Amino acid sequence: MTDTQIPAETASAPVYSVPQERRIVTAVPGPKSEELHARRSKVVSSGVSSALPVYIERANGAILVDVDGNQFIDFGAGIGVTTIGHTEQRVVAAAADQLQDVIHTLFTITPYEEYVRVAELLATHTPGRFEKKSVLVNSGAEAVENGVKIARKFTGRRAVAVLDHAYHGRTNLTMAMNYKAHPYATGYGPFAGDVYHAPSSYPYRDGLSGQDAAARTIAYLEKVVGASDLACLVVEPIQGEGGFMVPADGFLPTLQSWCTENGVVMIADEIQSGMARTGRYFASEHFEWVPDLVLSAKGIAGGLPLAAVTGRAEIMDASHPGGLGGTFGGNPVACAAAVAVFESIESNGLLAEADRIGSSLKAGLERLKQRYDVIGDIRGRGAMIAIELVQPGTGDSTKVPNPDAVSRLVAHAAQHGVLFLSAGTWGNVLRFLPSLAVSDSLIDDALHVLDDGLASLG
Ligand SMILES: *Cc1c(COP(=O)(O)O)cnc(C)c1O
Repeated sequence: MTDTQIPAETASAPVYSVPQERRIVTAVPGPKSEELHARRSKVVSSGVSSALPVYIERANGAILVDVDGNQFIDFGAGIGVTTIGHTEQRVVAAAADQLQDVIHTLFTITPYEEYVRVAELLATHTPGRFEKKSVLVNSGAEAVENGVKIARKFTGRRAVAVLDHAYHGRTNLTMAMNYKAHPYATGYGPFAGDVYHAPSSYPYRDGLSGQDAAARTIAYLEKVVGASDLACLVVEPIQGEGGFMVPADGFLPTLQSWCTENGVVMIADEIQSGMARTGRYFASEHFEWVPDLVLSAKGIAGGLPLAAVTGRAEIMDASHPGGLGGTFGGNPVACAAAVAVFESIESNGLLAEADRIGSSLKAGLERLKQRYDVIGDIRGRGAMIAIELVQPGTGDSTKVPNPDAVSRLVAHAAQHGVLFLSAGTWGNVLRFLPSLAVSDSLIDDALHVLDDGLASLG
């Protein structure tokens, strides 16, 4: 192809080291995966499960390649971690450079610029125009733990409130904050106390306006906890593991106003919904919500472990020196990767890409919903879209959850080279959490596989 044949708009399109297509060449899982699985079963705890036990050798863009040479279109992105694409060039280069320069010092002993740069970028891109500060840690759950610590220190209060259907992690405190006991908490108690579960906004099932849903949440908090004992209210702007519930308009800003009036720190858990995934840097922006503190993790460093608590300087500075930190928190390589992620979002126009993906997915799913009445609801924003499956024929009248349909669709898709993830309090939600590198033709291809799967449900 000569230069003149390359259309200007594709001239700088990303170069992928793996062809962006699905390809199934063995049974799934294939023989080499089976072999690895046998080894794994001897030495890896059974407590660690794998949704699809194909062992991955390479990953690039929106494609996973397993040890048997099968290629999967990845609609999980490691649960929203490789948001800007697998092995994205800018992230790979930044991390490789940083590995040569310095791998670890411990920021609380001798600091380095990359940590400061990430805090600057978070201050710029999180919602709200006021002075902000950050602490960097390693995982989402650790960010939640630190958010709660910081809020307790600032308010001098004890109680923590969360919403129904929430998911916040697997540590002792966060297990107590999750809605679903199984599989996260079963048998692992006793749990942290002073955690209260308030009603959420779930328009498909409660039919409430944002104002009415917020009034119900506030009534619960005032009666059951009492505002004067409440340190913080922790909320996912779009609930992740719970099933991608998008709250009714007005719900989040009304809760924030109540928190502000009552001296309660309101914390946005943007661990799954943040970092460009929904077409905004942070999903709170869709709801005109300006939280006091924002938690980031998953997508922040392109696949390297990094997490952050970012928020109002006066709240963040209430902690005494030495109160916050940890050995690996804000590791230089992870920070260099995070800086590259922010640059990539800007220079590759990824917020618009997330919007494109949301429009393509929703349009395709709407067409399927016309034909299959197991699809009860389609919801989400940008590259965070889900369908909730119900018993056929019951539709809007009963909305009986249909987890069996979700398991069958996930299994069908895997056999045909598409990785879908389930979600939902009742396991009846199929979620689409692709990387922003997924093209419209890959989306179409995956929706054809889904169409065949829906047809085979009978
Ligand atoms: C994944 C997740 C967490 C926990 O993050 P880890 O890195 O797994 O500890 C917390 N909150 C939300 C909303 C999440 O999606």
